[in-house]
Amino acid sequence: MDLFEYQGKQYFARFGIAVSPGGVAQTVDEAVKQAEAARYPVVIKAQVQVGGRGKAGGIRLANNADEVRLHAKNILGMDIKGHVVKRVWVEHASDIAEEYYASFTLDRSAKRHLLMLSAQGGVEIEQVAKVNPTAIVKLHINPIEGLSLDAAKRSVVEAKISERAQAGVAAMLVKLYECFTTGDCDLAEINPLILKPNGEVHALDAKVTLDDNAAFRHPEWDEYRATEVLDAREKMAREKGLQYIGLDGSVGIIANGAGLAMSTLDVVNQVGGKAANFLDIGGGANAEVMTAALDVISSDTKVKSILINIFGGITRGDEVAKGIVEAMKRVDLRAPIVIRLDGTNASEGRAILGAAGIAESQLISRPTMLEAARSAVEIAGKK
Ligand code: GDP
Ligand code: MN
Repeated sequence: MDLFEYQGKQYFARFGIAVSPGGVAQTVDEAVKQAEAARYPVVIKAQVQVGGRGKAGGIRLANNADEVRLHAKNILGMDIKGHVVKRVWVEHASDIAEEYYASFTLDRSAKRHLLMLSAQGGVEIEQVAKVNPTAIVKLHINPIEGLSLDAAKRSVVEAKISERAQAGVAAMLVKLYECFTTGDCDLAEINPLILKPNGEVHALDAKVTLDDNAAFRHPEWDEYRATEVLDAREKMAREKGLQYIGLDGSVGIIANGAGLAMSTLDVVNQVGGKAANFLDIGGGANAEVMTAALDVISSDTKVKSILINIFGGITRGDEVAKGIVEAMKRVDLRAPIVIRLDGTNASEGRAILGAAGIAESQLISRPTMLEAARSAVEIAGKK
């Protein structure tokens, strides 16, 4: 789950990371109240989950209530790269001496946490990576050992952070790492991390992605759910209790089990296709679940074929087949289905599908995952 900047800053604050005093506002009047509480001058910042807000006019300085009114009125409702601004964050404006970049992510291939640190912050890090890659210092961290203050200090020196900011930035990195690990983040990024003229180090922006798999140990995350931004299909899938992730391709995928769904994605890739989504229906593939899954996938106009890959264990092939036949009566499918049904009661299942009198142009059965993927990719390519 991605947090808004203001939520990210509130999350940072729990781990002792210095942020500016401020408050969130949904109306112009609220913005004025928050500005007064934060003390002038203030910055008014559009709360949208997209970068480059400054350039789009979504970040403004205000010295008094009139200026807050003017800017808050303009920013609220503004469209920034397709994201409509519903809230602004109003915080006490900071004087900036220098802008740095710091983030923690998980480097899956290295099986390590990854610190990225740069003395060139404030701009998009992708840009720094392109133009001046050596300006980004990377440190892999063994998750068992964690990040020591000494290791943080070495990275800070290596990144050529100004001497007077070094101690502050190193201490900040240790706190940010604590937030990343104990706080169960997939991403904890500060850009810019600023040095103020008075020598203080401070997070001016916050980009936090929480690891949804850890939600069970964070009841406090519930409040973030209320403001979570999901696209319509993701919302629909969640309401129906499905594990769904939208992707860019044209083959819709339904599989029972996340492992099988991932393998199906790979096989679709292998035969030259691209998946439109990842959808794991788990163990129970009854008519309700199938209807829900086909509903979600059919609402995606990019989908040109639907590949259903079921390996029955506890899930029985005949149940799945009944579910599909029933679901096809209920859902207005926009693309043909290719099914690979194997495992427990697969032949019974195939018999049910065969006897249902569904046209070949709508439902094709293939004996193996590879053949099914080929057919699905072929159909998707034809359209
Ligand atoms: P983003 O561009 O969407 O990532 O928004 P940021 O929160 O990173 O802000 C963009 C830029 O606005 C920063 O790099 C700063 O240059 C500027 N900015 C934001 N807050 C302040 C502030 O309190 N004081 C000053 N002087 N500039 C600010
Ligand atoms: Mn930023």
